[in-house]
Amino acid sequence: MNRGRNSRTVTSKSAAPGSPFREGLVIAHLGQGLAVEGSPGDIILCHTRRRLGFATVGDRVLWEPSEGNLGRVMEILPRRNVLNRPGHNETIRPVAANLDRVFVVVAAEPEPDWLLVDQYLAACERRDLRAAIIFNKVDLLPSQAVGEGLLADYHGIGYDSFLVSVRTGERLSELRKELIGQCSMLVGQSGVGKSSLTNALLPDKQLQTRTLSEKTSLGRHTTTTATLYHLPDGGDLIDSPGVSVFGLAEMSIRDLASGFREFRPWIPRCRFNDCRHINDKGCAVREAAETGALPYARYERYLKLIEKLPPSQRP
Ligand code: GDP
Ligand code: ZN
Repeated sequence: MNRGRNSRTVTSKSAAPGSPFREGLVIAHLGQGLAVEGSPGDIILCHTRRRLGFATVGDRVLWEPSEGNLGRVMEILPRRNVLNRPGHNETIRPVAANLDRVFVVVAAEPEPDWLLVDQYLAACERRDLRAAIIFNKVDLLPSQAVGEGLLADYHGIGYDSFLVSVRTGERLSELRKELIGQCSMLVGQSGVGKSSLTNALLPDKQLQTRTLSEKTSLGRHTTTTATLYHLPDGGDLIDSPGVSVFGLAEMSIRDLASGFREFRPWIPRCRFNDCRHINDKGCAVREAAETGALPYARYERYLKLIEKLPPSQRP
């Protein structure tokens, strides 16, 4: 199959000339090792050199062939960003690396949980991940304008959005164009249509999954937290069903406030440096929300998210 290559698929070897190492892309983390791809479809099961640290899906690595048609990952190349999840015994495990954009998916049904949306967005801001919103199931809305209205606050503060319907195919082509040449990930509450969307965007997902398990000969009993798939027009989609990596763990009030991007111009104008933007005297953020210079609904959800922070993360 002639699948479009994307900018992230490795074509050159950045290992020193004469070095036995090859460059590759980690496309899945399997119980027994990593599935590393040299070029699309050319997948090898790799173990990792001891003390390498944890490589993850989306990582670019240097590897060398080892015995028995296997490989060994020698080095993880520098990451642009990484998403972590808590592992056993208070460890932290990476789930995906080198993402270009996270799409927070909501839908006409179930009713959007905007508090969760804002939590996702704040978590992305904190990790310098670009985020956008997909509003799915527009076929269930009386008009497109209703959807636009629901997203008005987000447009106003600069988030891109895509109103689509997987069922009717409406505006899916616009979304497909946006994904070209990028590594994307979908997140959102269950039932909004993430897996339907993934299947629509990846018509050969099953084939890619089969190739992956054949090449790594692990069969069906493979456990993996995330898998990187190639989109037909170039670009990648990381599928990570059920992985919750956008919690409020490790977030302070300060992180949360700057995770509300529209607060940022106001924060320096608060009277006190350690303003929490709650009832603090001379708070410019609160005042801006009360006078309508900021979306008040978002400000209210900021206050609710503060209450959700573990007590140790609140002063
Ligand atoms: P997930 O939990 O986010 O992965 O959601 P699913 O992909 O499982 O979809 C949940 C339900 O929504 C399924 O019954 C889908 O058929 C339905 N669904 C997905 N996309 C659309 C859509 O565009 N319009 C409508 N009406 N239903 C959809
Ligand atoms: Zn303030």
